[in-house]
Amino acid sequence: MPVGPGSASSAPRWLTSLRGPLEKTLHKVGAEREFGRDATAVATADGDESVPWTPPLHRLQAVALVGIVRTAAVIVLAAVSGMRSSELMELTVGCRRPPEEPVPGLTRYRLISKVIKGQELGGVVDEWVVIEPAFRAVELIEQLHPDPREGTSLLGRFAFDVRYRWFRNWVNSQTGRRLGLASIPADPVNLRRLRRTLALEMAYRPGGVLATKIHLKHIAVATTEGYSSRPGGAQAELLAEINKHESDRNFDLILTEFRNYQQGILPAGPGARELTAFFTSIDGKFDPSTTPIPRTHRNEWDVLNLLTKRAKTLHLGPANYCWFTDPSRALCLKLAGTPAADRPLIGMCDSARCPQATHHPCHRPVWTEHAERTKTFLGQLGRPRKTERTRLQNDYDRAMHIIADIDAATAPEEEPA
Ligand code: SF4
Repeated sequence: MPVGPGSASSAPRWLTSLRGPLEKTLHKVGAEREFGRDATAVATADGDESVPWTPPLHRLQAVALVGIVRTAAVIVLAAVSGMRSSELMELTVGCRRPPEEPVPGLTRYRLISKVIKGQELGGVVDEWVVIEPAFRAVELIEQLHPDPREGTSLLGRFAFDVRYRWFRNWVNSQTGRRLGLASIPADPVNLRRLRRTLALEMAYRPGGVLATKIHLKHIAVATTEGYSSRPGGAQAELLAEINKHESDRNFDLILTEFRNYQQGILPAGPGARELTAFFTSIDGKFDPSTTPIPRTHRNEWDVLNLLTKRAKTLHLGPANYCWFTDPSRALCLKLAGTPAADRPLIGMCDSARCPQATHHPCHRPVWTEHAERTKTFLGQLGRPRKTERTRLQNDYDRAMHIIADIDAATAPEEEPA
């Protein structure tokens, strides 16, 4: 139908002859927006229901959505690779190197870009070792690229702050809520902060500072220069920051466990009795028949002080808390033959047997996953592999035992009849 000046007046004239074809077309293609009409159903992020991944969209809406997805991919890439904005902007289509498997079951993903900061004009080509989500994010950005020829700039120059704001608005809008996405607070987020957060998160882990240096050396060479070549400078600042975060985090954890204890959710594991006795002593509910610690009624400051002191002994294992109060009782140090060390060897932790280990409800998913995985392996083992079967069976039994312990310590006490 002609559209333009006079079309309204000529419409009735054309309508009679066009009605048939129009209705036929309408019947065939419908009146719905053109993109995403038969969108695949996906589970919402909060897991409550399954919805089409997008409602039907007009072309401009589809283009805007591509922008949002690209931003999401950039956020993933920046947050888990720690790359600077200059390094992200140097990525090109085809920057993904074929994944390698140096040891069976362990895949190495690499990206090629350029280090610009501190280098001659034009930068220096370098390689970033990244985890799989970063690698997949680049793959997705390549797929959404309007001109995906090898060597084309992957992201071009972009203003992260603006894009991030659009992305946050989208997530916090009705569209994001429809997909069950948690809303994003208005706190400032930029590439520097993402990079710093990654460094701190890595440094939290046992031996993490060293790992951070090594990891950043692979990921962002120029960053590690600041940490390693200026003793007392950026490195000391980073360490001080890490220590502060670590003590805050430990205090939060012990306070949570103390509150749990007050609600009847007790720790489990070999060190549970000792930790419970400690909580009892500061909670003023001391029972002299079960523990030798003297009861003292303390004010809130005393309690916080005692919790702070105890928090200093806390080390985090992947599936337990380690209360490193006495090196001579540390099973890991005994096994390693270094009983006088001043830190536990979390990598050698045997939390099912060490008297300084406790398990809490937050560790249950780790043990459940471990038990399930072990069960699967057990099911796949051939008959002749008896030694392996016995080892796996013991492993499975141990995991189930720990889960049962956690459940028993978490279950509310039965009300007396
Ligand atoms: S074995 Fe585990 S819980 Fe025991 S001291 Fe070592 S790291 Fe801590």
